[in-house]
Amino acid sequence: MNLPGSGILKGMAVTAVNFIGSFLDRAHAKRLITEQYPEERPTLVETSRSFPFLVFDGDPEKGIRCTACKICEKECPPQCIFIVKDKDANGKPILRPQIFDIDISVCMGCQICVEVCPFESIRMDNIYEVSAYDRFETLVLHKEQLLKSNVYYRQIHPTEAAQTDARIEAARVKKAAAAKAAAEKAAAAKAAAAAKAAETQPEPTA
Ligand code: SF4
Ligand code: SF4
Repeated sequence: MNLPGSGILKGMAVTAVNFIGSFLDRAHAKRLITEQYPEERPTLVETSRSFPFLVFDGDPEKGIRCTACKICEKECPPQCIFIVKDKDANGKPILRPQIFDIDISVCMGCQICVEVCPFESIRMDNIYEVSAYDRFETLVLHKEQLLKSNVYYRQIHPTEAAQTDARIEAARVKKAAAAKAAAEKAAAAKAAAAAKAAETQPEPTA
């Protein structure tokens, strides 16, 4: 028969043993189950994600993949993306964003923007140390902060980035083949038209 309160005493004994043991035996993995952050940084799994970023190839301005199509802005559930299309000197729209902001105080990391983007332009980052005192301006990330290279993307999500690269390369090969076929067809049509015109030319009179 257990005496009243013996369960509490047993529980306190276990706590005391582990409390003292955690100081004397720090290498014991079973006791130190809590990660010693920030002294120790967690090793993130490849699929971990936090907030989106914009991918560029080579040069951040010229190599930006985003065409400012605004599909992600429209589909984002909490509406935390804000995009303004860029324009040239004559006011003609250019297929890139002049402004691309994401309010990460609102973003819920759902990845829908990534799923709907037709240009492989936006991907999920795995940064997690983004806390700030000002929840309005500091947590609105602008284009300059969102732009990250494809090299960075390959580092944080190698499998996914390799699949993306393969899709982009396949699309490039397909587009080049279609352009070549169209050029050949146009050249053949031009040659046929020239031959027909030569046939219908009236014979020169003597
Ligand atoms: S991850 Fe979700 S909430 Fe965040 S910007 Fe993309 S669509 Fe919006
Ligand atoms: S990130 Fe993708 S979906 Fe969003 S505006 Fe740019 S190209 Fe369009």
